[in-house]
Amino acid sequence: MENFKIDVDADGVALVTFDVPGRTMNTLTASVIREVGEVVERIKTDAAIKGAVITSGKTTGFCAGADLGELGAQAPGGAGGSKEDALRATFDAAFALNKAFRALETCGKPVAAAINGLALGGGLEITLACHYRVVADAPKVQLGLPEAKVGLLPGAGGTQRLPRLMGVMAAAPYLLEGKSMKPAEALAAKVVHEVVAPDQVVEAAKTWVKTKGDPVAPWDKKDFKIPGGGPYTPGGAQVFIMGNAMLRKQTYGNYPAQMNILKAVYEGLQVPIDAALRIESRYFVKTMSSPQAKGMIRTLFLSMQELGKGSGRPAGVPHYDVKKVAVIGAGMMGAGIAYVQAMAGVETILIDTTQEAADKGKGYAQGLVDKAVKRGKMTAEKGAAILALIHPTADYDQVKGSDLVIEAVFENRDIKAEVTKKAEAQLAETAVFGSNTSTLPITGLAKASVRPANFIGIHFFSPVDKMGLVEIILGKETSPETLAKSIDYVLKIKKTPIVVNDSRGFYTSRCFGTFVQEGLEMLAEGIAPAIIDNVGRATGMPRGPLEMNDDVALDLSYKITEQTKKDLGDKYEERPFSPVVEKMVVELGRLGRKNGKGFYDYPTDGGAKRLWPGLSELVPVKTADADQALIEEIRTRLLYRQAVEAARCFEENVVTDPREADVGAILGWGFAPWTGGPISLIDGVGAARFVETCDQLAQKYGARFSPPQILRDMAAKGESFYGRFAAKAKAA
Ligand code: NAD
Repeated sequence: MENFKIDVDADGVALVTFDVPGRTMNTLTASVIREVGEVVERIKTDAAIKGAVITSGKTTGFCAGADLGELGAQAPGGAGGSKEDALRATFDAAFALNKAFRALETCGKPVAAAINGLALGGGLEITLACHYRVVADAPKVQLGLPEAKVGLLPGAGGTQRLPRLMGVMAAAPYLLEGKSMKPAEALAAKVVHEVVAPDQVVEAAKTWVKTKGDPVAPWDKKDFKIPGGGPYTPGGAQVFIMGNAMLRKQTYGNYPAQMNILKAVYEGLQVPIDAALRIESRYFVKTMSSPQAKGMIRTLFLSMQELGKGSGRPAGVPHYDVKKVAVIGAGMMGAGIAYVQAMAGVETILIDTTQEAADKGKGYAQGLVDKAVKRGKMTAEKGAAILALIHPTADYDQVKGSDLVIEAVFENRDIKAEVTKKAEAQLAETAVFGSNTSTLPITGLAKASVRPANFIGIHFFSPVDKMGLVEIILGKETSPETLAKSIDYVLKIKKTPIVVNDSRGFYTSRCFGTFVQEGLEMLAEGIAPAIIDNVGRATGMPRGPLEMNDDVALDLSYKITEQTKKDLGDKYEERPFSPVVEKMVVELGRLGRKNGKGFYDYPTDGGAKRLWPGLSELVPVKTADADQALIEEIRTRLLYRQAVEAARCFEENVVTDPREADVGAILGWGFAPWTGGPISLIDGVGAARFVETCDQLAQKYGARFSPPQILRDMAAKGESFYGRFAAKAKAA
């Protein structure tokens, strides 16, 4: 065996050490799954073995679960084979694991798991098939089933054993939300039996095998009862009735994984464990074969991982270790950027027009650090060391020696030009100048620079400390070296970079803008605002489009429209909603959430927001009732409008890699995660069907839905985005 080592001690306890060669962390690869069967066979048939302890040979953890790369390739529609073949292969693989773990559980000898590090997904599930679990008491140890987070179902017994151990209600957040537990929580929930010092886990597990070793799982005993009752008991039934409603409220039925997990638990808990595991495997395959699972695994796991390693970085440029960065503009964005830099150990010069304004910017980091220290998440010394890295000042001389500058002053070309000149006067020839502009084209801003090759867009999202994405924008003259250095910087501050070409609104703001605008179009058409936002939320977007308008601020939308009007001149097309927004902003002073009144009223006492009653006078409602067909159409319009814009960005070479387009959409503006991103959405529907629907929408609602040529070509050739642009992804 290449993944397991078995050492039998003098007492006949076999220590099975799980150690996948050549990897820093154990995962359940196909070869591991095959060998689990061999391990079980040896434990069962070797008369010298009285019982076994399973542990990991890695210092990084016990096991991180399935190999999602392998699983993704097996997903029907993935690499190679017919759909039926792939489905059968998926079922066989899923059930093989269940069979192997069940064989371990019923091998007739006591088996204990010595969990010496994190155990996630299949890594936790193998321990649940052991008769006893000992966990190391260490801060990095986590136990959990994160499958639901990437659209999957825990398919190696997790949906059956966890609720049989801790009860359905208690298991629900671990199964449905992918929450993980610390050793102490696991002990309290009776998921594990002992928590001991890290160097004692194997010994404690062996002691149990030798002294108490019981080779029968609780659910294989005659008097077994599910904690809190099964689905057929009054208490248990309540949990499912409520759980179903709550799930519907949270997911709007967009996520097959969560639905299938609940079904697997409900059906599985009514039958003995062997039948239950078959039920689980069936739901596993059903979930795996959904386009949602495929899109989510690819975007939220595989692509995130690749981008997190800097897959778009030009080769051949030496690693650029950014040690000192000047952030100019200590407002909302600059203050957040200073904080994330300091957290990553980067010395930060935080500049504003006055010392007072710069100090206020540092105050933001101070607030976050104080909170972390108060909650015990950070020591006071660590907090002080982080804050000491931020130097607030109004003096540009201090920019000297910076490896990089982030400009985050007002969104105004002249001010940005002035700041560029002042900062560059202090910079070395090799330093990078990054602008955090959200709308102004980079090539234009670079005109103020004496080194346009070093000038680039480094676009953060608000709030900077919570948002994981950074959109890097190339100006016409930006050099590959500057791009490589910028990616190194973004990775150093632990954000995920995507790289796009210059365009109005770049990629993220441009596509996101279509969502909020489509909501305004609907409002102007007379669709009731409540319908627009309810359906908007039901698409899987974080909020409805009108709510989003309020959050972004209506005066900002108004300003951007006015600027666009100026820039486009005759080409600008006035929209029916423009006068509505203008009236709200200019006449009524309704600016959105920021001043407590926009499309909604925001009570000052912090109560729930309510739609502004005056809105119906400003825009008369023509459609107050929505039938299913209208709901479907609103849903399609809101999602397809964004997706067709993303496709247009490919046509115009603004984005060039489907992985960046999908990751950028979900991380940047919260595009419905169940789709795997707008490009996965189009690929899942198929270009031909997508084009057909867009043509129909264009006829009814206008050219904004017209599919770009690239989509028509793909439809004609039966291509997908991921197929067409695969070369780039592979080359990376
Ligand atoms: P803000 O108004 O909160 O902060 C701007 C800061 O720049 C102010 O503190 C101001 O005093 C300072 N400033 C102005 N002129 C200066 C000068 N000459 N030298 C030094 N400091 C100067 O604005 P913000 O929301 O932080 O936005 C800053 C930039 O980031 C803008 O370009 C904006 O488009 C962009 N951006 C904003 C967001 C967002 O959600 N707010 C998101 C991404 C990008």
